[in-house]
Amino acid sequence: DDTVVLSDLAKRMGVKGNELIKRLMEMGMMVTLNQSIDYETAELLASEYQFEVEKAAFEEETIFQSEEDAPEQLRPRPPVVTIMGHVDHGKTSLLDVIRHSKITEKEAGGITQHIGAYRVPYENGDIIFLDTPGHEAFTAMRARGAKVTDLVILVVAADDGVMPQTIEAIDHSKAAGVPIIVAINKIDKPGADLDKIKRELAEKDLVPEEWGGDTICVPVSAKQETGLDELLEMVLLQSEVLELKANPSKLARGFIVESKLETGRGPVATVLISEGTLHTGEPVVSGIYYGKIRAMFDDMGKAVKEAGPSYPVEIIGLSGVPMAGDELMAVADEKDAKQVSEHRMEKQRSKDLSKTTRMSLESLYEKM
Ligand code: GDP
Ligand code: MG
Repeated sequence: DDTVVLSDLAKRMGVKGNELIKRLMEMGMMVTLNQSIDYETAELLASEYQFEVEKAAFEEETIFQSEEDAPEQLRPRPPVVTIMGHVDHGKTSLLDVIRHSKITEKEAGGITQHIGAYRVPYENGDIIFLDTPGHEAFTAMRARGAKVTDLVILVVAADDGVMPQTIEAIDHSKAAGVPIIVAINKIDKPGADLDKIKRELAEKDLVPEEWGGDTICVPVSAKQETGLDELLEMVLLQSEVLELKANPSKLARGFIVESKLETGRGPVATVLISEGTLHTGEPVVSGIYYGKIRAMFDDMGKAVKEAGPSYPVEIIGLSGVPMAGDELMAVADEKDAKQVSEHRMEKQRSKDLSKTTRMSLESLYEKM
């Protein structure tokens, strides 16, 4: 689909746009300045002015090297875990107590930082928790091809049971091929019924291990802070099975988890690094935006100079606010970053323009 916006072509040739419109009309085509014409038409039109049209073969692949990693370049990386479940079953409470119980008092000063993803030190490594604002965000990310999570902790309240959003979460996880660990929460409550919950889970093909299935169920209470170590232990066990690895010694790639415009700081985005290592000062592209990383902060609000695979960092320096789920890629040269961004913007622009033209045509027909 090689196309060019008519006004761009006019500008390049130094010809008035209206003149081109007239020529096209003579050729039997009704085209406005903001519309795109195909390559063949552009060629024909240009030849009348002794211009030659050349396809600008711009391939992003030439800028983003995607060589496969040699096995010896791969290093273990921490698991990225998403907590999902029905509303009010205790997702936020669980994440809060996990963070608070595992981060020492001294560090806890900076804990107010909300960047949408958190590092929890556990035993010899770290576990990264993604705090998805809702299933929609998760679904949106998946729809855009973002593989952002290695494991799902499904929270089910012991006094309530499997509910619509529980089922949704199960479906999403299964569709994404992400293993589920069930945390049966609120076991401190008088109405808690573990057997009932397990029965309901089994009905959804999550048969508990103790019943001969392969679903790990851990009874917990976010309120009384019980079962947390068992839960984290199971997360570590499961991630060992997955043998999570990435190459840390190359240009970084990652996914935008959250983004916003902040007064005084400009566009701010949380990136979850999937491979490579991101450094301050590096040029990056994300969505239609680009920039040089001016500063990076971890989930405690501490300035950091680099971030490796699985780690979340808040970055500033982008030219605009990318969307959650957009990929972020570091490039060797800022010129390349700019070129990719401009190319993507142009593409988006011609897509938007053809959309609005079609829309205005449709509304025109409606009036007729
Ligand atoms: P979310 O909507 O899944 O994020 O649920 P919240 O974490 O906001 O919890 C919903 C409500 O359940 C809050 O009032 C919590 O205090 C309460 N809650 C969460 N975990 C427990 C628990 O283990 N035991 C009891 N008794 N209450 C809990
Ligand atoms: Mg919540």
